[in-house]
Amino acid sequence: MQTHILGYPRIGSQRELKKACEQYWSGNISLDDLHQAGANIRQNNWKLQQEAGIDLIPSNDFSFYDQVLDMSLTVNAIPVRYQELISKKETTKQDLYFAMARGYQQDGLDITAMEMTKWFDTNYHYIVPEFKKDQEFELFSNKALDEFLEAKEIGILTKPVLLGPITYLLLGKEKEAGFNRLDLIDKLLPVYIDVLKKLQEAGAIWVQLDEPFLALDLTPKEQEVYNKVYNELKKQLPELKILLATYFEGLKENLNLAVSLPVCALHIDLVRAPQQLQEVLDKTPKELTLSLGIVDGRNIWKNDYQTSLDFIRKALKSKSPKRIMIAPSCSLLHVPCDLDLETNETVLTPEIKNWLAFAKQKLEELATLKAIIEADDTHAVATMEKLQANLDAVKSKQESQLIHKTEVKQRTANITAKDAKRNQDFSERKTIQHKALKLPLFPTTTIGSFPQTKEVRSWRAQFKKGSIDALAYENLLLKETEQCIRWQEEIDLDVLVHGEFERNDMVEYFGEQLNGFVFTKMGWVQSYGSRCVKPPIIYGDVDRPEAMTVKWSSYAQSLTSKIVKGMLTGPVTILQWSFVRNDQSRSETCNQIALAIRDEVLDLEKAGIRIIQIDEPAIREGLPLRKTEWEAYLKWAVNAFCISAAGVSDQTQIHTHMCYSEFNDIIEHIAAMDADVITIECSRSQMELLDAFAKFNYPNEIGPGVYDIHAPRVPSVTEMVALMEKAKLVIPEKQLWVNPDCGLKTRHWEETHKALEALVEAAKKLRVAS
Ligand code: GLN
Ligand code: ZN
Repeated sequence: MQTHILGYPRIGSQRELKKACEQYWSGNISLDDLHQAGANIRQNNWKLQQEAGIDLIPSNDFSFYDQVLDMSLTVNAIPVRYQELISKKETTKQDLYFAMARGYQQDGLDITAMEMTKWFDTNYHYIVPEFKKDQEFELFSNKALDEFLEAKEIGILTKPVLLGPITYLLLGKEKEAGFNRLDLIDKLLPVYIDVLKKLQEAGAIWVQLDEPFLALDLTPKEQEVYNKVYNELKKQLPELKILLATYFEGLKENLNLAVSLPVCALHIDLVRAPQQLQEVLDKTPKELTLSLGIVDGRNIWKNDYQTSLDFIRKALKSKSPKRIMIAPSCSLLHVPCDLDLETNETVLTPEIKNWLAFAKQKLEELATLKAIIEADDTHAVATMEKLQANLDAVKSKQESQLIHKTEVKQRTANITAKDAKRNQDFSERKTIQHKALKLPLFPTTTIGSFPQTKEVRSWRAQFKKGSIDALAYENLLLKETEQCIRWQEEIDLDVLVHGEFERNDMVEYFGEQLNGFVFTKMGWVQSYGSRCVKPPIIYGDVDRPEAMTVKWSSYAQSLTSKIVKGMLTGPVTILQWSFVRNDQSRSETCNQIALAIRDEVLDLEKAGIRIIQIDEPAIREGLPLRKTEWEAYLKWAVNAFCISAAGVSDQTQIHTHMCYSEFNDIIEHIAAMDADVITIECSRSQMELLDAFAKFNYPNEIGPGVYDIHAPRVPSVTEMVALMEKAKLVIPEKQLWVNPDCGLKTRHWEETHKALEALVEAAKKLRVAS
């Protein structure tokens, strides 16, 4: 039985990749230095795995930016707009690569970056391949071969990892009409064969082809292409051992297809889809090796050895050990590098730390599981000690007082349909709210945050370091809040916000104040390119020890006679952007958070806050990968939002906010959230996102963003009026608000001032015209 992994985090345990890339981009280190930094990370990762006893170590899982972009470079799928850059003599491949990822604005050239989007249901973003009708492919980069040889040089015969050709095409986009990108497979496949042949000639025995799409909903045509491609690969490369990797979902109706493909090994995700094992075993031909994905590659909990051993033993009943591999469920890209770096016991107590495993620890888990299965007399004692330690850790978590709170569980168990429903329907609430709030037509507001300037961030850093005390820090924030309120009054916005200066991050801020959350110091995970995030860990039952935002909102409200909107992050978004418990359903955890937010909403209302916004930008990205599971998810997710919002009286106006999303296929669920007002990111789509609302006859109020906050550019009054005129064509004007696309925290004050002054003027123009 062999151990292997599908990929290791490439950011480096000290975020070396981030540092090297950013220094290279700003011209502070040379290309050689950058490449050296990459080589160091790769070698560290290989050696770590070797020391841990991993049998089959991957290569080409490293990337300077993104593995999908690597593939686009490998097969020369480089959009034409980079041609001018390519033709410049001094352009290196590396610079071209970064230009594709980040755009290029230098010496007279201004080339936009390729689009970026989320990698399946993770928080990792990949660079979307762009295809044209007459798309050609050719071998352009030897990265996979180079990295294979690099490892071979230090004595490690790796298993190169490549994104499978079908998944690669499906992840891309047709940039012109008149063709289907899947039809490009005939042109693409020869390049893949070329790459694989070169690897084989260099000594590779195994290669891993990642085909996560094989575990998703496939059309008959896509299934057929799978057949064709893998048969062709077998024909061209009869000796090469291909490990076909599926993950993030179960094979389900694609199982027959998957086990019929002529590959040497098939990897299945038994964390996401544990129930598939027996059926897979029943259907796998004898000679097909099965790679069991039993260690969670998406979460940070210690493996439960008992469960994993059961899986392995079950597999051993129908397969010889030679035909079994064990592995993490997916690439370890999605978990932090090393738990050993968490040495601050006040941040992460030893009790909780003992429940966790990051990437490096997961390597050890695989090796130990193999050792337990193969336990020979020499190591039996040590191995059994490890097993016992694991059983103890799992038990300590199951029984911990830290995790289980009877009151919290009782409260979620007692949730009724009534808790998720406002007293009266929107049609009634509307009248009551209009009377109470007295807002003009086209009311103006913002999404919550105002610029987090260098100063604001430096106050927080000083406070964390201890160089200023809590009182001094708070006073600085209060002053900033006051200025922000004064300025909003001055420019005559209708509904004000306090500015969110006290918040580091919209999830972390709440997580830090709720029970059941812990944070790490070094638990970084790559989000895209050099950007990393440090998700909170929800380890226990969630409740709210005390009010979290009331002080800030009431202070801001006390400064002005205008309405100040309270600002909260919604339960689904808090859940979605954290590492969550694996000992209860996501929906249960979500309900616990929803009740905590509900209490906060009611406290805000009691404190005189008349409009409360509950942000849910992550609702759409939480959608399951399989369409059959959408309904169930949307039901509990929408219900959790409703639980958080519905406790208020009819007079209190509930807002929600979502960043760029397509609502077409989920509009009825967005409507079921029944927020009195929803603000959405809209300006870049030229209001097209409103069509879904229009078609549905969406009854509640909508604020389509008219100001793209992702760029420093200041939109003109005319432009914003024009956008709203477009909105008016599809949504009755009585339902419309005027606001930016999203929060302004990444903007500078200078452009914020100008843009919001223009926004208020635009609303005034619209009122006169109506
Ligand atoms: N209220 C948050 C802000 O303004 C919303 C951010 C978001 O939607 N991502 O920053
Ligand atoms: Zn947003």
